[in-house]
Amino acid sequence: SSRFLATTAAQASWRHAVEQKNASVNALVYVVPDDAAPVPEGPLNGLTVAVKDNICTKNMPTTCSSAMLRDFQSPFDATVVHLLIASGATIIGKTNCDEFGMGSLNVHSVHGPVINPYQHPSSAVDWHARERRSAGGSSGGSGAAVAAGMCDAALATDTGGSVRLPASYCGVVGLKPSYGLISRWGVVSFADSLDCVAVIGKGVTSASKLFDVLSVHDEKDPTAARPVTRKNARELCSEHLTGWASYSGDLTKLCIGIPQEYFPTSLDSSIVSPFRRVVRALKNRGATVLPVSLPNTRYALSAYYVIASAEASSNLARYDGLQYGLHVPSPPDSVARSPGEVYAHSRTAGFGAEVKRRILLGTYALTADAFDNYFLQAQQLRQCIRDDFMRVFRVPNPLARSATPNEAGVHVLLHPSAVRTAPHLDEQDGLDTYTQDVLTVPASLAGLPVLSVPIAVGGEGDGWPLGVSVVGQWGCEPMVLAVGATIE
Ligand code: GLN
Repeated sequence: SSRFLATTAAQASWRHAVEQKNASVNALVYVVPDDAAPVPEGPLNGLTVAVKDNICTKNMPTTCSSAMLRDFQSPFDATVVHLLIASGATIIGKTNCDEFGMGSLNVHSVHGPVINPYQHPSSAVDWHARERRSAGGSSGGSGAAVAAGMCDAALATDTGGSVRLPASYCGVVGLKPSYGLISRWGVVSFADSLDCVAVIGKGVTSASKLFDVLSVHDEKDPTAARPVTRKNARELCSEHLTGWASYSGDLTKLCIGIPQEYFPTSLDSSIVSPFRRVVRALKNRGATVLPVSLPNTRYALSAYYVIASAEASSNLARYDGLQYGLHVPSPPDSVARSPGEVYAHSRTAGFGAEVKRRILLGTYALTADAFDNYFLQAQQLRQCIRDDFMRVFRVPNPLARSATPNEAGVHVLLHPSAVRTAPHLDEQDGLDTYTQDVLTVPASLAGLPVLSVPIAVGGEGDGWPLGVSVVGQWGCEPMVLAVGATIE
């Protein structure tokens, strides 16, 4: 009965936060009713978790924040949801996001934008009278729900930065794992070669707890890393981790690289000094900090938007209003028209402007005329970007056939998670949004793990949160999490 009491107390507190804040934050788009099923015993007992609305759940809607899937309810749970439930987590509901995961500010949603709930610890500002800032996207609901205390952790997805921007803007921890480590079965595809299920937590500990439960092979996902690859990566990582992680505060064996290309002119100057402070603190504890160069970084944004849009245009072809998605009947006078026109009625009504833009861009990039100049070039650039990372890491690539360690390489890379703090919601438009992703897409193209950890901004800048990103070799989550824990 003591466990029962503990559960009801935890329930009461998350529900209280939802009732108090969700109307203004708009983080949750579905909340489980009171009579939620009892949870089995497991490592996640006592942990409340919200799930991004592009991840399928059997007993809740899965809208992807799109009118296209407004009435969709999945007949099954995604593998990640199943794993959470089986491990004893309490699922509290579904979180708002950009439509199909496309966006950086969580403003492209049929449910409306998410409002950043961050509250400076020392300020007593009233919830409802605050300035309206973005919670970041596309997993803004997941970041905001955790930041507002509606849940302990949340599932998100990250294709090009969607967990790291919300984590940075909302002041929480976000982990984008190595591509292929967490099952995507039951996760609605945006760009398959980039999509990762990601986790958000208040701290590194809760994010890492979730990762441990989710990072298992799933034969239902054909892109899942095989058990032998996982074992190989685990061994390589721990071999290099033991060098410095058996410390108590001493980081003398840790070597950190600062990628010089990650300080573009668009980087707000108020970001530099808090970042420097983190680097100085690590140095003071004995870490070696080296400048490194990833020269192809400047092509990452263009390559990403070509590849992600191309894959999205193909994935989203299934929503034709007949097999899948919202059906809008053609007007009676159009009986003899082509199937394309029949689909067009549903697709015009079902998709939002940003999704349509991506479909058009992606379809163009894949046409015979444009293919060589866009899609093919983008794939080549992606390889160059991947090679840049592989050159600087000390841990050899577990996915490569012949992996030679680079003794002069670095264990992890460190850079600001975003070029600025949370943007105001009322002054956003156009291409500027895409530049928010400039620091997050390179690791996505390379499939590498990244942890964004909030750093104390103190009196600097505008007082809004800011994250620092720790990037590691493929499969080096334990290392990335260990470094993150020292910064936290
Ligand atoms: N902002 C990027 C985009 O719009 C990344 C989104 C994501 O990671 N899902 O494509």
